[in-house]
Amino acid sequence: MEKVLNFKQGRVPLLISMPHAGLRLTPAVQAGLIPEAQSLPDTDWHIPRLYEFAAELGASTLAAEYSRFVVDLNRPSDDKPMYVGATTGLYPATLFDGVPLFREGLEPSAEERAMYLQQVWMPYHQALQQELARLKAEFGYALLFDAHSIRSVIPHLFDGKLPDFNLGTFNGASCDPTPASQLEAICARHGQFTHVLNGRFKGGHITRHYGNPAEDIHAVQLELCQSTYMEEFEPFNYRADLAAPTQVVLRELLEGFLAWGRQAYKK
Ligand SMILES: [Zn+2]
Repeated sequence: MEKVLNFKQGRVPLLISMPHAGLRLTPAVQAGLIPEAQSLPDTDWHIPRLYEFAAELGASTLAAEYSRFVVDLNRPSDDKPMYVGATTGLYPATLFDGVPLFREGLEPSAEERAMYLQQVWMPYHQALQQELARLKAEFGYALLFDAHSIRSVIPHLFDGKLPDFNLGTFNGASCDPTPASQLEAICARHGQFTHVLNGRFKGGHITRHYGNPAEDIHAVQLELCQSTYMEEFEPFNYRADLAAPTQVVLRELLEGFLAWGRQAYKK
């Protein structure tokens, strides 16, 4: 495998995880994808670029290099379904709109997939776990922000148009309720955007697995509508004009999360 992740260590107790940002394919996946999937339509496009400003805040960042079409880093390794109803798994079988992802008989073999789990999924989770442990050891707590984005209209997965900012704390289990409501309030102050907390997207495996308020690890997932910063259809261009006001809110969310942590864990 080539480089599987891109990790940058910061200087504040916040890790931003970007598990669906990767564009790299393995030869077996590349060879099997249906034509509509070749352009990687279900990628969380441009997330590292959108969050570039986070380096100024001192946040650590961890971004996937491989596509979710190889292995989905935000699914548990036993592939238990994350959501009731339509969803995609550890090794996605379909695109978000429900069409099969691979041409018949051209899915990667079980051996290939076992290798993806070992060589792509595991290193990402090891890096995540190690960085959270480091932050906890250094600061006494750790904040995890799992950064995602999705096309705003996908009839197969949800009704109508998604709110712009979808915050998830697994119904309060992954994060203290105070910062969760503060983040909601930040969204609410920016009236040109819509938002929801624990709506359709409550947080995937990363949020649920690592978020543990009793252990002073607080995890929030943000599923952001791609309409807030890019062209939602091919060629999926980044739109700096759209992204600028969205980044204002993202920055406030990250700063707000950090400010809560400093206050709550003041020695
Ligand atoms: Zn995602």
